[in-house]
Amino acid sequence: MLQPRIAKELTRIMGDRVLLGELDRAYYSYDCSFFARQNHYFPDAVVLPRSVEEVAAVMKIAFANRIPVTPRGAGSGAAGGSVPVQGGIVMDLSFWNDIEEVDAENMQAFVRPGVVHAELNKYLAKYNLFFPPDPGSTRMCTLGGMVANNSSGLRAVKYGTTEQYVLGLEVVLPDGRVITTGGPQCRAIKNVTGYNLTKLFVGSEGTLGVITKIRLRLWPRPAARGIVMAVYRELDQAPQTVLEVYRAGIMPSGIEILDESAIKAVNLYRPEINLPDARAILLFEVDGNPASVEWEGREISTIAARRAAAVEWSTDPQRMAELWQGRGVVAAAAAKLRPGGTRIFAGEDVSVPLNRVAAMLEKIRALSSQYGIPAVTYGHIGDGNIHTAVIVNPDSEAELAAAGRLVDAIHRAAIECGGVTTGEHGVGVARSDYSAEELGKSLAVMRQIKNILDPEGIMNPGKIFPRPKNAGAGTKPAQSQPITQHRS
Ligand SMILES: Cc1cc2nc3c(=O)[nH]c(=O)nc-3n(C[C@H](O)[C@H](O)[C@H](O)COP(=O)(O)OP(=O)(O)OC[C@H]3O[C@@H](n4cnc5c(N)ncnc54)[C@H](O)[C@@H]3O)c2cc1C
Repeated sequence: MLQPRIAKELTRIMGDRVLLGELDRAYYSYDCSFFARQNHYFPDAVVLPRSVEEVAAVMKIAFANRIPVTPRGAGSGAAGGSVPVQGGIVMDLSFWNDIEEVDAENMQAFVRPGVVHAELNKYLAKYNLFFPPDPGSTRMCTLGGMVANNSSGLRAVKYGTTEQYVLGLEVVLPDGRVITTGGPQCRAIKNVTGYNLTKLFVGSEGTLGVITKIRLRLWPRPAARGIVMAVYRELDQAPQTVLEVYRAGIMPSGIEILDESAIKAVNLYRPEINLPDARAILLFEVDGNPASVEWEGREISTIAARRAAAVEWSTDPQRMAELWQGRGVVAAAAAKLRPGGTRIFAGEDVSVPLNRVAAMLEKIRALSSQYGIPAVTYGHIGDGNIHTAVIVNPDSEAELAAAGRLVDAIHRAAIECGGVTTGEHGVGVARSDYSAEELGKSLAVMRQIKNILDPEGIMNPGKIFPRPKNAGAGTKPAQSQPITQHRS
């Protein structure tokens, strides 16, 4: 529990934007992860800051009293990153959502952390600019969360991930100091002065500081777009087409796969979409100027036709929307594969080498049968990032435990084939047990960096770094677990 003295100090700074009630704290014990479903960690207090001064003041109190602080955006994370596993303060930045400036001449924008991804791109349309990363959670996730997780999504294959677009950050360090990476006055796009601290904070998952302002590089909106859909009778033919498209010198803006489990789930969820009965469907999105889009679309269609049973190419907006529909709903559709089942976010984000995608998809299918738990697979095949939707019976304790073993086997299979447990959703707490294996000796260097910036260990503790063996992932869901104690 928070000492009354601390609660009073927080209230002095934040007024009524400090939440101490049980219901509020319960709300902030969740993100979208299976981990959060299984483990209930309540914060002792929640603060909703709206200025860098407020964030810095809260951090100074936390630092002086060794209280953990967990930054939070929309809580759409799938790895438990914003779950306060050591209690303390949750800092909800989602209400601080100003787009402060669009400097169109210099192709950049300055935003506060709570801006929702889709809102930013909507706002940028009038400048004919956009911020290319495109997560499936676009209508929920915040820019602060995206920077902290180095998020990406459909367009990463051509445009890269969030890190490519972060030119500078305002960060409040654990002791309350405020720094601006990339130069406080700088509006240059290219910049190699000093260590690249911006990149250090991108993907740091809230463990090194609180991101309070983001200087984002923007891109011109492509003038044209088109979609190729290719339908396969054999799963392993689909990744072959992807490699052949690359070999032909074409870089689509998105390459997505739905395997037969995903096709089935979509057709059960929305029969009117009526995807063809197949082992796999590939969707290629191309963008650019109209002539290049037309050429790329036709080339991809020709290449795909060598292996696919059917190919369709369109630049008609309505037809493109129809072709994309199945991919658009697959995350929501997955649970339909099993009446009464629930989709969990665990083992959902492995990333493997391009030439191992087909083998990994087959492996996931085999593991799903071995454990007797259905799984739907789909995702960003163009960069080897596979999403697995594991569907469980939420009322069966035995099955939830088996799901944990299935997820572990999926993670291990990804590592064994030269991949990683997460391509975009982050380590959080859910994948921290694999960090030592995945990172090798660099984990110790990361720990040194963490210790320098966060000597009291208050910044989102329990994330990225492996947990002590007795820490509780996979434990029984607690109805009213006692509020966790912080270290003070
Ligand atoms: C249906 C669905 C689809 C998704 N699709 C994608 C996808 O396509 N691509 C993708 O990359 N992810 C995807 N995600 C995962 C998730 O949406 C992203 O990781 C997202 O960027 C998290 O943003 P958030 O605002 O919800 O952050 P949160 O979940 O609140 O936090 C995520 C992490 O960031 C830290 N953090 C948040 N704000 C700050 C801040 N201001 N300063 C410091 N640290 C901070 C938190 O401590 C936590 O570690 C999806 C999730 C769902 C549920």
